[in-house]
Amino acid sequence: MANPSLLILPGDGIGPEVMEEVKRVIAWFGDKRSLAFDVSEDLVGGAAYDAHGTPLHDDTMARALQADAVLLGAVGGPKYDDLDFSVKPERGLLRLRKEMDLFSNLRPAQCFDALADFSSLKKDLVAGLDIMIVRELTSGVYFGEPRGIFEEGNERVGINTQRYTESEIDRVARSAFELARRRSNKVCSMEKANVMESGILWREVVQKVHDEDYPDVELSHMYADNGAMQLVRAPKQFDVILTDNLFGDILSDCAAMLTGSLGMLPSASLGAPAANGRPKALYEPVHGSAPDITGQAKANPIACILSFAMALRYSFDQGDEAARLEAAIETVLANGARTADLMGEEGGTPISTTEMGDEILKA
Ligand code: ATP
Ligand code: MG
Repeated sequence: MANPSLLILPGDGIGPEVMEEVKRVIAWFGDKRSLAFDVSEDLVGGAAYDAHGTPLHDDTMARALQADAVLLGAVGGPKYDDLDFSVKPERGLLRLRKEMDLFSNLRPAQCFDALADFSSLKKDLVAGLDIMIVRELTSGVYFGEPRGIFEEGNERVGINTQRYTESEIDRVARSAFELARRRSNKVCSMEKANVMESGILWREVVQKVHDEDYPDVELSHMYADNGAMQLVRAPKQFDVILTDNLFGDILSDCAAMLTGSLGMLPSASLGAPAANGRPKALYEPVHGSAPDITGQAKANPIACILSFAMALRYSFDQGDEAARLEAAIETVLANGARTADLMGEEGGTPISTTEMGDEILKA
């Protein structure tokens, strides 16, 4: 059987720097665990614009659609700030998400024990925290029509429309329930059914999918504003949180900061399962291209390495190998290895991107 294929798009800024470490990790799995991938690499974002005048070449798009999974570093940077909107680096990423139809965005908020002290919050609030936010990514208020700034009488009005179809809610709900079965079998769905029609439909459809196909999963519903409060007050009450595009944007950033640095946070964006059972999938760190530290060997590669761990788990059904990789990271952090972003008040000497990669491979 052919090896599973992985398309790597390092992108811009620290993207290529952190991806270098991921490539070493991937090679390690081939050497030591007989888990080989057919890895290919291509350009995205500003790097693609520099080479082709477009942030995502059609050939790259085609390769992404063919690949079993795509791993992306980061896009954008000050060099591209003045580009026309249509060729901005971010448009490359948006096109990938759209054409791959990645409707389910998974963002874990997981607190490594060794970093529980680092969090500015009380240690007992976040130690052992392990939640997953499932955010609908392709619809809702960021896409609904009508949208625009219009003249109305003698003033202007800005309009965005929150719009969800039953099938859009149905498919993202299924992905949350499937995920919950692999975790603690618990989903909390968040909307504002008290004041929004789309919220009423959301709650109804989520409940129906649950009752028909996932009655074994524990389901609760919460208004998103209360959810935000609960997330900060007592985050460990949650396992999987299912929510729409807008609330998910906010709640996932909020949850992320419970755990420490941006340099630690992975994400997955999944689409519909293909014939081979694998969903279309794009994995990327939550952080951006970090122009302020680019080229200084300071970037923390862990977010990108954890994104590869998510690929192992969700695209390649290698949950044990993903856990092996996560355990290595836990060990390294417990031993005190810190890139600059993880340095607390106590100080110390930070290690470089490559040194962090070395430590993880050793562990
Ligand atoms: P974008 O617009 O692409 O989201 P941004 O400017 O909002 O980018 P980042 O590029 O993620 O956000 O950078 C935010 C801050 O976090 C910067 O100070 C950056 O140096 C820091 N940072 C981001 N990622 C990392 C990382 N992997 N390691 C260390 N520091 C990081
Ligand atoms: Mg940003």
